[in-house]
This record gives sequence, structure tokens and C-alpha cells, in this order.
Amino acid sequence: MSDLILPGGSGAELTERYQHAVMNTFGPPKRVFTRGEGCYVWDVEGKRYLDLLAGIAVNALGHAHPQILGAITAQLSTLGHVSNFFATPAQIALAEQLTTLVTGDSGTEAKVFFANSGTEANEAAFKLTRRTGRTRIVAMEGCFHGRSMGALALTHTAKYREPFEPLPGHVTWVPFGDAAALEAAVDDTVAAVLIEPIQGESGVVVPPEGFLVDAQRIAHDHGALLWLDEVQTGMGRTGQWLAAQHDGVVPDVVTLAKGLGNGFPIGACVATGQAADLLQPGSHGSTFGGNPVASVAALAVIQIIKRDGLLDHVTAMGEHLAASVAALGHPRIKEVRGRGLLRAIVLTDEIAPRAYDRAMDLGFVINAPRPDVLRIAPPLVVTAEQLDTFVAALPDILDGSTP
Ligand SMILES: *Cc1c(COP(=O)(O)O)cnc(C)c1O
Repeated sequence: MSDLILPGGSGAELTERYQHAVMNTFGPPKRVFTRGEGCYVWDVEGKRYLDLLAGIAVNALGHAHPQILGAITAQLSTLGHVSNFFATPAQIALAEQLTTLVTGDSGTEAKVFFANSGTEANEAAFKLTRRTGRTRIVAMEGCFHGRSMGALALTHTAKYREPFEPLPGHVTWVPFGDAAALEAAVDDTVAAVLIEPIQGESGVVVPPEGFLVDAQRIAHDHGALLWLDEVQTGMGRTGQWLAAQHDGVVPDVVTLAKGLGNGFPIGACVATGQAADLLQPGSHGSTFGGNPVASVAALAVIQIIKRDGLLDHVTAMGEHLAASVAALGHPRIKEVRGRGLLRAIVLTDEIAPRAYDRAMDLGFVINAPRPDVLRIAPPLVVTAEQLDTFVAALPDILDGSTP
């Protein structure tokens, strides 16, 4: 046991200390949380919340999962870190698992680069695309790929990008889901087409049916790579290991992170076919990436998702949530979109920030990625009963936040 003493006090006192000591990149924190178990978290004042955000689609198996805890502590007390001059059985096993999950029964070979976050996985993929000998990237309007200089270069929104220019160039954007625009933008100078199968940060935006299939054809017609950012949609979140598997698409490059380690930081860039050998010694690296503790966390996640049949559970719970919210027939709800347990409740008015606050007061953690969108991304193990408590509170969450 540890003899570290962590600060106590009220939420207001701790928030005050936070604001003095932590850079103000996120705005004031909504709560100070001290404990989590399963699908619930508790704040410093002892109030319990149903966690329907899961640390932004991260805590796939909920908080303090005993088997993940067991795997991490066993590895940490055996061998915690060795750097990438050396291999560990944990990292090898995870790489094999991930390549199998990504390629399925397509018969394609694949290899993994391990990182510590989604941004870093994308940074690796971005550098990988440069090794094709081409430099142009065609990305999507409304995309989100992270906050590093590389990830920012891929971001469409000018107000995020422009304060940090000059950034790596040769990136162009087309409207998300517009195959004709993509067709017109891609030529033989393009290294990669970059797509989130569902745009998470943009408000859980789903492209038209068949878009990924079209995008793959367009990319391959021009010798370009199809790079999918599945940092948010991957690892079972939509009811398949990768969201692209709903369309039968095997990407040339796919980036993973959020749900991969259940909260233990880990990211992965998986490349298939010839793309798997583009990065070579000296091309890229990471001190922590694929560290054995992070690797066993991810191995445990994969094992439990398989063992407990969670992909089917995600599909069933996602449909249950969407149907129950629709059945409310609430005048402020326009639609429910998304797939599996990555869902948006789209509102008729821009009341999402207030609804977010009201939900927190009523004991539900959600968030508002856009002024008219509430995002629901609970642990994959959430039950129908737990979701029903939220749906029952939804009229109050929406009406209690009338402008
Ligand atoms: C969250 C996210 C990222 C960034 O991941 P970090 O772990 O925050 O660096 C990149 N791409 C997508 C699609 C994401 O949702």
C-alpha cells in the first residue's frame, strides 16, 4: 500500500487549487472525482454518478475492473518497463492480437507501432504516409485527430490550426461523407486518405452508407493509402473491433487508443500489407510505447471483450438506448445517431451545455461535444437497467435546461 497523502477538501476548494496549479487548457473541471467502480464514479463529496462518458470512450470495461487490475499489478510487480531496445512477451502477444483483430480473415499481414495516446498513434501514421514518397493527405472537414503539431496539421477547423502555423503542409479537406468530392480531390500525388469512420469529437457524425468502401476504392485507384483514425470508434465501441468492419473494409493504416487500455495510456498504429514495412529503424520511436504494463492492460481488455461476448452486448445496448430515447418522443430531441455505444442525442436547440450541467447534477456523466449534441459513450459493460435510469431522467435533463 502507498503512503502518499492526496489533498482532501470540498470540490470547490480542490477546484481552486487545480486552477492555480494546472494550466488552463481545459477550462474549469466540472467535478473532482475520487473513486470509480464498474459504471459508477464518485466525486470528492461522495456523490455517485452513472458514468455514461467513460473518460471519453476509454473505460470500456468500467472502473476498477478486477481482471485488468490483476493483469496490471502482476506485470508491474514482475517487469514494469524496459524501453524498446528490448522486447517483452506482453508486447509481442498484444501486437499479434491487434494484427489479427485488424486483418480478420482477409489473409493480409500487418504490423504494429506502439505509442501512448491517440495523438501519438496518428503522429506515427502521419510519418508512415511520408515514407510512401508522396506528401499529400486528403482528410475530412470536421475531423479530429489530436493536438500535436502533426495532428493539428490534419485538422480542418482554421481556428485551432492557424494560431500554430506553420504546420506540416500538403493537407486538403473534403466534406465528410462526400464520395464525389473525395473522388475529385484524390490524384496520384496523394499519400493517404484519412477518415474517422464516425466523427466523434465533431458530434458523433455518421457518413452515408458505403462511404468507406468508396473511399477505399478511390484511394487504391490512385495508389494512396486508406488511413482510418479509429482512436474513438475502435476496440468494440461500435459493436465490431473496428467500425470499418461493419463495411467489410480493411484499412491500410489504422490508429487506435482510447478504449485499448481501459484507461491505462496506450496507442497503436497498425499497418497492413506493404504499408506495414514503411517505417524502418530510425524512422520513428517511443520510450514508453508498448511498455509491458500497458500491453497487458490491452491484452486483458481484448480477452474480456471476447470472453464476455461484449461486441454483441454493445450492439444490443446501443439499439436499446436509441430506441428508448426515441420512444420518449421529447420535443427537444431531433434524433439519436451513432452506432453501438457511441451515440449522440441531437437536440432541436443549442441547450447541450446546460443539459450537460443538469445531467451532472442529477448524477449522470455525459458531455456536449457541440452546442446541440449530447454524447453518450458508456462503458461497453453498461446494462439496460443503467441506461434506463438515464432515459427516465432525460426529460428533466432537457427541460431543466430551458434557455
Ligand atoms: C481522442 C481522439 C484522438 C486523440 O487521442 P489522444 O489520446 O487524446 O491523444 C485522435 N483521434 C480521434 C478520432 C479521437 O477521438
